[in-house]
Amino acid sequence: MELGLTSPVRVTFVKYGPMSDQGGRYVRLGETGHRLSVCGHATPREASSILWHELAHAVQVERLGGHRLFEQLWARELREAGISWRQLRESAYSVRAYRSMPLEREADRVAAACGRVRLVGRLGD
Ligand SMILES: [Zn+2]
Repeated sequence: MELGLTSPVRVTFVKYGPMSDQGGRYVRLGETGHRLSVCGHATPREASSILWHELAHAVQVERLGGHRLFEQLWARELREAGISWRQLRESAYSVRAYRSMPLEREADRVAAACGRVRLVGRLGD
């Protein structure tokens, strides 16, 4: 699958806490390109799926014309899904409602379609 990204991508592995439900994050589009983070506790298979999901957000950022416009749309979809920023911060929201957000659904579809292509492995694999 051709994602069509035009800016470079930098991935940081972050050790999210054991209680975190966050597997990865689209961080931002800066002068040096897209920055993504993936949980360092994830297995290579999980990390690949997370990475495909976050790469789909990078495509959305470029398609929408920048990170700010992406964030505005994402925030609107969050509101329409009935999730407040506080609920998001405290991980006290309906995962189903979150996954119903159009930008998230699109990213999940990309991850499902491309997930078999491993982007992450362990040394020696
Ligand atoms: Zn997402």
